[in-house]
Amino acid sequence: MAAPDQRIRPVEGGLEPPRLDIPAVNQIFDLCRAMSLWPMTFGLACCAIEMMAVGMARFDISRFGAEVFRPSPRQSDLMIVAGTVAKKMAPAVVRLYEQMPAPKFVMALGNCAISGGPFSFKGQYGIVEGVDKLVPVDVYVPGCPPRPEGLLEGLFQIQRKMTGKRFWPVPEMPPVEGEQA
Ligand code: SF4
Repeated sequence: MAAPDQRIRPVEGGLEPPRLDIPAVNQIFDLCRAMSLWPMTFGLACCAIEMMAVGMARFDISRFGAEVFRPSPRQSDLMIVAGTVAKKMAPAVVRLYEQMPAPKFVMALGNCAISGGPFSFKGQYGIVEGVDKLVPVDVYVPGCPPRPEGLLEGLFQIQRKMTGKRFWPVPEMPPVEGEQA
């Protein structure tokens, strides 16, 4: 039997945030956290281009409180895994996740992060078939790549998970330049 690959080891989920015995105060904390998520800059492949697009004026993720992309896991509470996770990268993914302060959340953006890839990567010896084999994933956004609106919808789902409420409508898809409306 082949030895287990030490680079692929799942880690436990994030710690629960401290809770008070006053539900109204907890709700305020949850709302403040949900409306000020700090995503980690963590692009691994082509899906990262869509992640960059949500930071631009057209999609403008800052409208939803998540524009402060941080280069350090210690200042981030949302890991957007955007792209293909190679086995060589796996220990770094786990290390970064472990360095994020709790409560923390993970979005698997695109088919590569969800299941290893659409066709050409899946099943290859060097690819992790889904980042949920390494860290707990809170929301999956499918597509190759998903459109930026998909990432926004994923963000809304995480906000709903944090607060129990949905605050924004489903993002509209504006026509792509050059396409017929
Ligand atoms: S899902 Fe498609 S677009 Fe995204 S990283 Fe994989 S191959 Fe690239």
